[in-house]
Amino acid sequence: MTFKRIVRYFALPTILTLAAVPACAQDLLARQAPVDRRTKAIDTIVVKRLQEAENTEEPSSELYDDWNNTYAHRAGTLPDVYKIDLRGFHMPTPSRVITSNFGRRWGRRHQGLDIKVYIGDTIRAAFSGKVRIVKYDRNGYGKYIVIRHNNGLETIYGHLSKQIVSENQTVRAGQPIGLGGNTGRSTGSHLHFETRLCGVALNPALFFDFAHQDVTGDYYVFRRNNIDRESAQATALRGTSSSLGYSKENIQGRSGSTGGSWKQRNERTYNTDYSSRERNATSQPASGQILYHKVSSGDTLKSIAEQHGVTVEQLCKLNHLGPYTRLNVGQILRYS
Ligand SMILES: [Zn+2]
Repeated sequence: MTFKRIVRYFALPTILTLAAVPACAQDLLARQAPVDRRTKAIDTIVVKRLQEAENTEEPSSELYDDWNNTYAHRAGTLPDVYKIDLRGFHMPTPSRVITSNFGRRWGRRHQGLDIKVYIGDTIRAAFSGKVRIVKYDRNGYGKYIVIRHNNGLETIYGHLSKQIVSENQTVRAGQPIGLGGNTGRSTGSHLHFETRLCGVALNPALFFDFAHQDVTGDYYVFRRNNIDRESAQATALRGTSSSLGYSKENIQGRSGSTGGSWKQRNERTYNTDYSSRERNATSQPASGQILYHKVSSGDTLKSIAEQHGVTVEQLCKLNHLGPYTRLNVGQILRYS
């Protein structure tokens, strides 16, 4: 045998065998990986079930000191930042008509939104959770219900004609909890709807868009420092039409050469230049309508802009986005 032949005869199979070993090892690893993943998945399911059980027993216990059936609300300490999961919501009523906004009203603070409903209309739980209060307050809420949700929020439903759940009962989002009415301090049947975090009333328009029967996004990130500004913004976007600054006087002001009176009015109303800046940014809604687009998979800023006849720049301005911001499916974008 020549040297060359020896090499060919011994070395080649050796190299092949050596090469095969790592391949086998990799195969083994590859076969094992799904097992690990499966174990992990099982772990996650177990943890999830435990969390769910805990949540059902005492929802959002990390935010609240106790579970009680005594008071409707008591202001606690708000976190600086808190991410609220709005997925799995259900609109409390199919009514799209807001009759009164959150905020200052007749010299006192209105702690919720008033939504037009008729006596006997079905009122539903906004999210899953546990009923904390079912009471009657003759001079205020009338027949009302307080639910603590797994996402940290508490919702209050007031002026009901009938309550059909009981305290400490677990409810699912969309489950009927009562009927619309006119009980307590109320003129005309309506639903008084509050959203509270740690007992502090937050503008429901931050989370719910009644006109479009939707939530404002999959999540709402509460930031204590920003909340007043965001609340005014939410009212401007999703409040009653009278607060939108679309009264006759304002439309005239806007169609005038400067639009000055329109701008002034907005600044006075909200004490922020947000609304005027935003509406001046687009020449769109001739009808004064505010319209939204819910992001579907495959949507881009460009495709949404084209679909609604606006520019990407206008979309970005309206929603305070950068031109390269990643969109999330389900995200609500304003386009006019
Ligand atoms: Zn009210």
